[in-house]
Amino acid sequence: MSTNQPHPRVLAVLEEPTFPFDRNLHVKPLEAPVVPEPDRWGEDPAGCGACDRADDTYLWTDDSWRLSAANGQPLTGVVILESRAHYDSFADLPDDLTSSFGPVLARVERAVLASGDVGRVHLHRWGDGGAHFHVWFIPRPLGRMQMRGSNLPVWLDVLDDPGEAAHADAWARTAAVLAATGGTSHVEPMGSAPH
Ligand SMILES: [Zn+2]
Repeated sequence: MSTNQPHPRVLAVLEEPTFPFDRNLHVKPLEAPVVPEPDRWGEDPAGCGACDRADDTYLWTDDSWRLSAANGQPLTGVVILESRAHYDSFADLPDDLTSSFGPVLARVERAVLASGDVGRVHLHRWGDGGAHFHVWFIPRPLGRMQMRGSNLPVWLDVLDDPGEAAHADAWARTAAVLAATGGTSHVEPMGSAPH
């Protein structure tokens, strides 16, 4: 096999219809592990930006959860659900939050589905960037079959951001649908820019 020819496994990835790039890519060599790992954003609760945020900077809040607009994304309606209190991951959540997590996920998904032309809502949990518990809801635009599956976050990295004004209606709809079944919307009615 030519050294310029991708490994068949890599070629399969490159030719996947949902992969955002063409074939002129090369796989990076793996770097050495870094142990212990470096701190993430908000590792110390005393200096955590999520803990410090006021409710009115969120789209919606209740006693346990807060929903944030994900600014700077190229798809409209992307939101992040955070625990109100500082916990790291599922392993750290108290029982009352693990019990309410499923119902609030369903509510947020319904709200995002109602926010515009959404084909499906993708739920993502990483935790490698920030240490305050959060999950992403990424609405795949209706009919955008290239964006199906796990490459959707990669598309977020390569498409152009249409600007915050383009997101306002989607976020306002999401907050309003959530607030209809509990909690508080912090967004003005549709047509006004959210915080
Ligand atoms: Zn925090």
